[in-house]
Amino acid sequence: MYRRPRPMPTKRETGKALRPAARSVAVQTEWQAFCDLCAMNETVCWYYRMQTKMSFIMKKRRQKIRTGIILVSFFLFPAFFYFFSPYLIIEGTLNGVITGSFVMFTLQFISALIFGRAFCGWVCPAGGAQEALITVRNKRITKSNFIKWLIWTPWIAVIILLAVKNGGYRQLNPLYQMKFGLSIDSVQALITYLMVLMLIVLPALIVGRRSFCHHLCWMAPFMIIGRKIRNVFGWRSLRLEAMPDQCTHCHTCTENCPMSLPVELMVEFNKMENTECILCATCIDGCKSKAIKYLF
Ligand code: SF4
Ligand code: SF4
Ligand code: SF4
Repeated sequence: MYRRPRPMPTKRETGKALRPAARSVAVQTEWQAFCDLCAMNETVCWYYRMQTKMSFIMKKRRQKIRTGIILVSFFLFPAFFYFFSPYLIIEGTLNGVITGSFVMFTLQFISALIFGRAFCGWVCPAGGAQEALITVRNKRITKSNFIKWLIWTPWIAVIILLAVKNGGYRQLNPLYQMKFGLSIDSVQALITYLMVLMLIVLPALIVGRRSFCHHLCWMAPFMIIGRKIRNVFGWRSLRLEAMPDQCTHCHTCTENCPMSLPVELMVEFNKMENTECILCATCIDGCKSKAIKYLF
Protein backbone atom coordinates (compact mmCIF):
# COMPACT_ATOMS: atom_id res chain seq x y z
CA MET A 1 0.00 0.00 0.00
CA TYR A 2 1.29 3.39 -0.94
CA ARG A 3 2.09 5.46 2.07
CA ARG A 4 2.34 9.17 1.57
CA PRO A 5 5.74 10.43 2.64
CA ARG A 6 5.77 12.54 5.71
CA PRO A 7 5.98 16.21 4.67
CA MET A 8 9.17 18.10 5.45
CA PRO A 9 8.75 20.11 8.61
CA THR A 10 8.17 23.75 7.91
CA LYS A 11 10.48 26.45 9.16
CA ARG A 12 7.78 27.38 11.62
CA GLU A 13 7.83 23.83 13.03
CA THR A 14 11.58 23.46 13.21
CA GLY A 15 12.95 26.92 13.28
CA LYS A 16 13.00 30.18 15.11
CA ALA A 17 9.29 30.47 15.73
CA LEU A 18 9.08 27.27 17.73
CA ARG A 19 12.44 27.28 19.42
CA PRO A 20 11.83 29.73 22.28
CA ALA A 21 8.95 27.61 23.54
CA ALA A 22 10.82 24.35 23.14
CA ARG A 23 14.10 25.61 24.47
CA SER A 24 14.98 25.21 28.09
CA VAL A 25 14.83 28.31 30.26
CA ALA A 26 18.56 28.16 30.83
CA VAL A 27 19.35 28.29 27.17
CA GLN A 28 16.78 30.95 26.52
CA THR A 29 18.55 33.23 28.93
CA GLU A 30 22.14 32.34 28.11
CA TRP A 31 22.20 31.82 24.37
CA GLN A 32 19.04 33.35 22.95
CA ALA A 33 20.79 36.38 21.52
CA PHE A 34 23.03 34.14 19.43
CA CYS A 35 20.41 31.53 18.54
CA ASP A 36 17.88 34.08 17.39
CA LEU A 37 20.18 34.85 14.48
CA CYS A 38 19.83 31.28 13.23
CA ALA A 39 16.90 29.17 12.04
CA MET A 40 18.34 25.74 12.79
CA ASN A 41 16.48 23.37 15.10
CA GLU A 42 18.17 22.96 18.48
CA THR A 43 18.12 19.17 18.25
CA VAL A 44 20.42 19.49 15.21
CA CYS A 45 22.53 22.47 16.26
CA TRP A 46 25.88 21.29 17.68
CA TYR A 47 26.58 24.74 19.10
CA TYR A 48 23.32 24.74 21.04
CA ARG A 49 23.98 21.25 22.40
CA MET A 50 27.56 22.07 23.35
CA GLN A 51 26.61 25.30 25.10
CA THR A 52 23.75 23.63 26.96
CA LYS A 53 26.17 21.02 28.26
CA MET A 54 28.82 23.60 29.14
CA SER A 55 26.25 25.80 30.91
CA PHE A 56 25.13 22.84 32.99
CA ILE A 57 28.69 21.80 33.90
CA MET A 58 29.74 25.38 34.66
CA LYS A 59 26.78 26.04 36.91
CA LYS A 60 27.40 22.85 38.83
CA ARG A 61 31.10 23.41 39.27
CA ARG A 62 31.62 27.17 39.22
CA GLN A 63 31.18 27.71 42.94
CA LYS A 64 33.46 24.78 43.75
CA ILE A 65 36.13 26.25 41.48
CA ARG A 66 35.70 29.72 43.01
CA THR A 67 35.87 28.44 46.57
CA GLY A 68 38.92 26.36 45.67
CA ILE A 69 40.72 29.39 44.21
CA ILE A 70 40.13 31.66 47.20
CA LEU A 71 41.07 28.90 49.65
CA VAL A 72 44.35 28.21 47.82
CA SER A 73 44.93 31.97 47.80
CA PHE A 74 44.38 32.00 51.57
CA PHE A 75 46.85 29.15 52.14
CA LEU A 76 49.44 31.08 50.11
CA PHE A 77 48.69 34.28 52.03
CA PRO A 78 51.63 33.92 54.49
CA ALA A 79 54.02 33.92 51.55
CA PHE A 80 52.81 37.16 50.00
CA PHE A 81 50.81 39.12 52.55
CA TYR A 82 53.21 42.08 52.24
CA PHE A 83 51.57 42.74 48.85
CA PHE A 84 48.42 43.72 50.79
CA SER A 85 50.18 45.68 53.51
CA PRO A 86 48.72 49.10 54.39
CA TYR A 87 51.88 49.90 56.37
CA LEU A 88 54.58 49.07 53.79
CA ILE A 89 53.06 51.50 51.30
CA ILE A 90 53.58 54.26 53.90
CA GLU A 91 57.15 53.18 54.66
CA GLY A 92 57.87 52.95 50.94
CA THR A 93 56.44 56.42 50.36
CA LEU A 94 58.76 57.80 53.08
CA ASN A 95 61.72 56.29 51.18
CA GLY A 96 60.45 57.20 47.72
CA VAL A 97 59.83 53.52 46.82
CA ILE A 98 56.83 52.08 44.97
CA THR A 99 56.26 48.89 46.96
CA GLY A 100 54.42 45.65 46.19
CA SER A 101 51.31 46.84 48.01
CA PHE A 102 51.33 50.10 46.00
CA VAL A 103 51.38 48.00 42.81
CA MET A 104 48.67 45.65 44.16
CA PHE A 105 46.27 48.47 45.15
CA THR A 106 46.79 50.11 41.75
CA LEU A 107 46.03 46.83 39.97
CA GLN A 108 42.90 46.35 42.09
CA PHE A 109 41.70 49.82 41.07
CA ILE A 110 42.41 49.16 37.37
CA SER A 111 40.79 45.70 37.45
CA ALA A 112 37.65 47.21 39.01
CA LEU A 113 37.22 49.42 35.93
CA ILE A 114 36.46 46.26 33.90
CA PHE A 115 35.77 43.43 36.34
CA GLY A 116 34.21 45.32 39.25
CA ARG A 117 35.01 43.64 42.54
CA ALA A 118 35.55 40.22 41.02
CA PHE A 119 38.97 40.23 42.75
CA CYS A 120 37.11 40.06 46.07
CA GLY A 121 34.92 37.19 44.92
CA TRP A 122 37.46 35.14 43.01
CA VAL A 123 41.01 35.89 44.20
CA CYS A 124 41.36 37.57 47.58
CA PRO A 125 42.90 35.41 50.34
CA ALA A 126 41.06 37.35 53.04
CA GLY A 127 37.82 36.56 51.23
CA GLY A 128 38.79 32.87 51.29
CA ALA A 129 39.41 32.94 55.04
CA GLN A 130 36.09 34.62 55.72
CA GLU A 131 34.03 32.39 53.45
CA ALA A 132 35.52 29.35 55.17
CA LEU A 133 34.18 30.79 58.44
CA ILE A 134 30.63 31.15 57.10
CA THR A 135 30.06 27.55 58.20
CA VAL A 136 30.81 28.65 61.78
CA ARG A 137 29.23 32.11 61.84
CA ASN A 138 26.64 32.85 59.18
CA LYS A 139 25.05 36.08 60.36
CA ARG A 140 24.10 38.43 57.54
CA ILE A 141 25.54 41.96 57.66
CA THR A 142 23.53 44.76 56.14
CA LYS A 143 24.77 47.84 57.98
CA SER A 144 27.76 50.11 58.60
CA ASN A 145 29.61 49.69 55.32
CA PHE A 146 30.74 53.28 55.76
CA ILE A 147 33.22 52.32 58.53
CA LYS A 148 35.89 51.27 56.05
CA TRP A 149 35.84 54.76 54.55
CA LEU A 150 36.65 56.23 57.98
CA ILE A 151 39.81 54.10 57.93
CA TRP A 152 40.67 54.50 54.25
CA THR A 153 40.29 58.30 53.95
CA PRO A 154 42.88 59.38 56.57
CA TRP A 155 45.19 56.54 55.50
CA ILE A 156 45.21 57.57 51.82
CA ALA A 157 45.51 61.25 52.84
CA VAL A 158 48.67 60.45 54.83
CA ILE A 159 50.15 58.58 51.85
CA ILE A 160 49.43 61.47 49.46
CA LEU A 161 50.82 64.08 51.90
CA LEU A 162 54.00 62.04 52.45
CA ALA A 163 54.46 61.53 48.72
CA VAL A 164 54.12 65.26 48.06
CA LYS A 165 56.41 66.16 50.97
CA ASN A 166 59.12 63.73 49.86
CA GLY A 167 59.03 64.77 46.22
CA GLY A 168 57.23 61.69 44.90
CA TYR A 169 58.60 58.24 44.10
CA ARG A 170 62.10 57.55 42.75
CA GLN A 171 62.26 53.77 42.69
CA LEU A 172 60.08 50.76 41.84
CA ASN A 173 60.63 47.76 44.09
CA PRO A 174 57.63 45.38 44.29
CA LEU A 175 59.66 43.06 46.57
CA TYR A 176 60.45 45.84 49.06
CA GLN A 177 61.23 44.36 52.54
CA MET A 178 60.88 40.79 51.25
CA LYS A 179 63.63 38.19 51.19
CA PHE A 180 63.49 35.87 48.15
CA GLY A 181 60.07 37.36 47.36
CA LEU A 182 58.53 35.92 50.56
CA SER A 183 56.74 37.94 53.23
CA ILE A 184 57.44 35.76 56.27
CA ASP A 185 61.20 35.64 56.69
CA SER A 186 61.52 36.26 60.44
CA VAL A 187 59.70 35.79 63.75
CA GLN A 188 58.66 39.44 63.65
CA ALA A 189 57.08 38.95 60.20
CA LEU A 190 55.29 35.83 61.49
CA ILE A 191 53.83 37.79 64.43
CA THR A 192 52.72 40.54 62.04
CA TYR A 193 51.03 37.92 59.85
CA LEU A 194 49.19 36.41 62.81
CA MET A 195 47.97 39.86 63.85
CA VAL A 196 46.68 40.54 60.33
CA LEU A 197 45.00 37.14 60.32
CA MET A 198 43.24 37.92 63.61
CA LEU A 199 42.10 41.26 62.15
CA ILE A 200 40.43 39.35 59.31
CA VAL A 201 39.13 36.32 61.20
CA LEU A 202 37.79 37.84 64.43
CA PRO A 203 35.26 40.25 62.85
CA ALA A 204 33.95 37.40 60.68
CA LEU A 205 33.57 35.24 63.80
CA ILE A 206 32.14 37.92 66.08
CA VAL A 207 30.14 40.19 63.77
CA GLY A 208 29.24 37.96 60.83
CA ARG A 209 29.60 37.06 57.18
CA ARG A 210 32.57 38.82 55.52
CA SER A 211 32.59 41.51 58.20
CA PHE A 212 36.20 42.47 57.45
CA CYS A 213 35.20 43.20 53.83
CA HIS A 214 32.23 45.31 54.93
CA HIS A 215 33.83 47.28 57.74
CA LEU A 216 37.62 47.25 57.80
CA CYS A 217 39.15 46.45 54.44
CA TRP A 218 41.51 49.18 53.20
CA MET A 219 41.56 47.67 49.68
CA ALA A 220 37.80 47.64 49.00
CA PRO A 221 37.56 51.45 48.51
CA PHE A 222 40.04 51.31 45.60
CA MET A 223 37.75 48.87 43.82
CA ILE A 224 34.56 50.69 44.81
CA ILE A 225 35.96 53.93 43.36
CA GLY A 226 37.00 52.06 40.21
CA ARG A 227 33.50 50.59 39.87
CA LYS A 228 31.84 53.97 40.45
CA ILE A 229 33.97 55.52 37.70
CA ARG A 230 32.91 52.69 35.39
CA ASN A 231 29.27 53.30 36.29
CA VAL A 232 29.57 57.01 35.44
CA PHE A 233 30.91 56.28 31.96
CA GLY A 234 28.98 53.02 31.48
CA TRP A 235 31.56 51.17 29.40
CA ARG A 236 31.40 47.38 28.96
CA SER A 237 32.33 45.47 32.06
CA LEU A 238 31.51 42.32 33.96
CA ARG A 239 28.13 42.71 35.64
CA LEU A 240 24.93 40.95 36.64
CA GLU A 241 21.69 41.03 34.72
CA ALA A 242 18.32 40.09 36.13
CA MET A 243 15.23 38.65 34.49
CA PRO A 244 12.58 39.68 37.02
CA ASP A 245 9.83 37.81 35.16
CA GLN A 246 11.52 34.50 35.92
CA CYS A 247 11.98 35.13 39.65
CA THR A 248 9.79 32.96 41.89
CA HIS A 249 10.78 34.90 45.05
CA CYS A 250 12.24 31.85 46.72
CA HIS A 251 14.69 34.08 48.67
CA THR A 252 17.64 31.71 48.05
CA CYS A 253 19.85 34.37 46.46
CA THR A 254 19.42 36.80 49.35
CA GLU A 255 20.09 34.07 51.89
CA ASN A 256 23.26 32.85 50.16
CA CYS A 257 24.88 36.12 49.06
CA PRO A 258 28.32 36.26 50.78
CA MET A 259 28.02 40.05 50.92
CA SER A 260 24.50 39.86 52.42
CA LEU A 261 22.97 41.93 49.64
CA PRO A 262 19.18 42.02 49.13
CA VAL A 263 19.54 40.16 45.84
CA GLU A 264 15.86 39.20 45.56
CA LEU A 265 14.87 42.87 45.74
CA MET A 266 17.64 43.80 43.31
CA VAL A 267 16.18 41.29 40.86
CA GLU A 268 12.62 42.44 41.45
CA PHE A 269 13.50 46.07 40.72
CA ASN A 270 16.02 45.08 38.05
CA LYS A 271 18.80 47.03 39.77
CA MET A 272 21.71 44.64 39.95
CA GLU A 273 24.46 47.22 40.22
CA ASN A 274 25.83 47.49 43.74
CA THR A 275 29.37 48.49 44.66
CA GLU A 276 29.34 45.94 47.50
CA CYS A 277 28.68 43.12 45.01
CA ILE A 278 31.80 41.00 44.53
CA LEU A 279 30.50 39.29 41.35
CA CYS A 280 30.99 35.87 42.91
CA ALA A 281 28.04 34.34 40.97
CA THR A 282 26.68 32.57 44.07
CA CYS A 283 23.27 34.07 43.28
CA ILE A 284 23.47 33.01 39.63
CA ASP A 285 24.41 29.43 40.39
CA GLY A 286 21.91 29.06 43.24
CA CYS A 287 18.90 30.36 41.30
CA LYS A 288 16.85 27.46 39.99
CA SER A 289 14.75 29.82 37.89
CA LYS A 290 17.78 31.20 36.05
CA ALA A 291 16.65 34.73 36.86
CA ILE A 292 20.20 36.13 37.11
CA LYS A 293 23.12 35.89 34.72
CA TYR A 294 26.56 37.31 34.08
CA LEU A 295 26.86 39.84 31.33
CA PHE A 296 29.85 41.58 29.77
S1 SF4 B 1 36.83 43.55 50.54
FE1 SF4 B 1 39.01 43.42 51.00
S2 SF4 B 1 39.27 41.60 52.23
FE2 SF4 B 1 37.25 41.48 51.31
S3 SF4 B 1 37.59 40.26 49.50
FE3 SF4 B 1 37.76 42.42 48.88
S4 SF4 B 1 39.95 42.91 49.04
FE4 SF4 B 1 39.60 40.99 50.13
S1 SF4 C 1 17.07 32.64 43.75
FE1 SF4 C 1 16.23 33.25 41.76
S2 SF4 C 1 14.04 32.77 41.91
FE2 SF4 C 1 14.84 32.77 44.00
S3 SF4 C 1 14.48 34.90 44.72
FE3 SF4 C 1 16.55 34.82 43.85
S4 SF4 C 1 16.31 35.47 41.73
FE4 SF4 C 1 14.27 34.92 42.47
S1 SF4 D 1 24.74 39.76 44.47
FE1 SF4 D 1 25.34 37.74 43.65
S2 SF4 D 1 27.31 38.08 42.64
FE2 SF4 D 1 26.94 39.84 44.00
S3 SF4 D 1 27.93 39.32 45.92
FE3 SF4 D 1 25.81 38.66 46.11
S4 SF4 D 1 25.81 36.50 45.44
FE4 SF4 D 1 27.75 37.41 44.74
